[in-house]
Amino acid sequence: MSGAFKVAITKEDLVFAAAHFITFAGHRCEKLHGHNYRASLFVEGGLEAESWFVVDFSAVKKIMRALTAELDHRVLLPRDNPKLAISEKNGSVQVAFAGEPRYVFPAGDCMILPIPNTTVEMLAQYLAGRVRAELGRGAVHLKTIEVEVEENFGQSASYREILDD
Ligand SMILES: [Zn+2]
Repeated sequence: MSGAFKVAITKEDLVFAAAHFITFAGHRCEKLHGHNYRASLFVEGGLEAESWFVVDFSAVKKIMRALTAELDHRVLLPRDNPKLAISEKNGSVQVAFAGEPRYVFPAGDCMILPIPNTTVEMLAQYLAGRVRAELGRGAVHLKTIEVEVEENFGQSASYREILDD
């Protein structure tokens, strides 16, 4: 017999207000705009010995609050976007699209992420990877880590990372 429990962390404070723009296929790029993003976490797995829970809610909430705080009140920039050139000098981040200068932001206001586009799909995958790293390798009883990122009511994407080899 095999089974798994699923726990959900969908607290109202797991939000981040951030600016972004995405690039599309071809030579299209959105204007800079913002969302009140909301992140949720779902973890599946067996139980921890002695405690009879999958994860300690307080520990996981702390991880999620720290991750959303990193993104809060930032301009989210995708480091790995082939159409964007993002460079930092003298405390400023310069962003060029298709070879043309487009934005200059104070570096402290930016979060440059190791993703190719700041879509909710890529943000969800990024956050799932960060949660996995934070939960550590000791958590062998965990089967999946899923993060959902909502950018508007009823408009979200989720990424589910499967931890089994
Ligand atoms: Zn948007």
